Amino acid sequence: MDVRRHSRSEDRMASQLAAINTNLEDGRFWVRIPDHLKAAYRWRQRNEAAQGFRARSLFIAGIYVFLSAGIYQLMPEAERLEWLSLYGWVGAIILMLALLTTVSRWHHWFPVYAGVGSAGAIAISIMASGLAESAVANQLTHAAIMYAVFIIYALVGLSFLTATLAAWCGGLIGILGTLAAYGVLHWEVLLRSYVGSSLIAMMIAYTLDMSHRRNFLQAAALSLNVERTAEYASQMTELSFRDPLTGLSNRRHFEQSINLIWQRNQRDQRPVALIMIDIDHFKIFNDTYGHGEGDQCLKQVAAVIDNAAGRPGDLAARLGGEEFLLVLPDADTEGAVKVAESIRQSVWSIGIPMPDDEVVTVSLGVAAATPSHRMEPTTLINQADEALYQAKRNNRNQTQVFSV
Ligand code: GH3
Ligand code: MG
Ligand code: MG
Repeated sequence: MDVRRHSRSEDRMASQLAAINTNLEDGRFWVRIPDHLKAAYRWRQRNEAAQGFRARSLFIAGIYVFLSAGIYQLMPEAERLEWLSLYGWVGAIILMLALLTTVSRWHHWFPVYAGVGSAGAIAISIMASGLAESAVANQLTHAAIMYAVFIIYALVGLSFLTATLAAWCGGLIGILGTLAAYGVLHWEVLLRSYVGSSLIAMMIAYTLDMSHRRNFLQAAALSLNVERTAEYASQMTELSFRDPLTGLSNRRHFEQSINLIWQRNQRDQRPVALIMIDIDHFKIFNDTYGHGEGDQCLKQVAAVIDNAAGRPGDLAARLGGEEFLLVLPDADTEGAVKVAESIRQSVWSIGIPMPDDEVVTVSLGVAAATPSHRMEPTTLINQADEALYQAKRNNRNQTQVFSV
């Protein structure tokens, strides 16, 4: 197991979670999105806004038609056509935006086209109100300005800052356009309709934006926690299969794996070889050099065995104490003896000192068989154990093969 990889991703997740939590706690006035989530937030915000607009565009168009019809009826006949030719552009903008949102690869540009469209709609609404002569028509055209303001802040789906920029720029263009075209402006009414509704609508947009941000961060924290839990679970599984001292598989992993290997090789009618390995006179080593040195010795021997497990399906396990087992799927007795001998020689050639100028050696027992339904894996394990016992009896530091 790559412990460093785990700790690095663990560190990353912890720092990302900390950043999210800090921003959530500090975000009483403005919920900031941490750097690592900015791109994802922007992408999601734009896509959701564009899709949301498409869904709401019928409703927005309905409001527009409802208002236009009312104003059209109240307009003095002389101004009707001029007013309609101007205010009709607001309808065109709504239609254009609805069409643009159908192209999903342009969703990225939603704030730009929806922002420009919104500014245009406000500017046109303000200019169109300048055409109303009668008091009632005037009131209705100003209601249209207020509707436009509310729609832009609350229904288009722009972020708070983009909506604010679009609506105020549109207002400024509308005021300048009205002054240029008609020379007069009903300041008092405009203040009450445009400015008043803008301030209220800004509060709505701000609240919506902050709650979007908060929801996004909470969802991100939740998915990070899920990811972290999954990582912990896989680490736990990994650890529960490892011997902590040597890093080899433990007995539990071995027992699980051997059954699978056995079944697979029984199906394919291929042999399985086992090498049982035990350090010679390890008690003397421990008693002489202490448990710490004993552990070091165990690690060195384990490394040799792990090295010998060269093929992908090979499994090296520490069964307990100073006893190891190497499973070699698809190997026959001859192949297994070669591996066993190379382990024996490698351990010997490390030259870990033993009392009386000796070095640490191992004894090995080999057994191989092609699995059949009459034979359990435990039989093969016992055979390898029996061969190991033979090696011990024959004065150790050797490989013995099980024979009946
Ligand atoms: P033989 O050649 O017959 O195998 O003799 P041996 O002394 O190796 O065999 P025995 O089974 O009597 O002793 C095994 C010793 O291994 C006993 C204990 O001190 C030591 N041992 C078992 N587990 C550990 C361990 O985790 N760390 C250390 N340092 N020693 C261990
Ligand atoms: Mg021993
Ligand atoms: Mg032993």
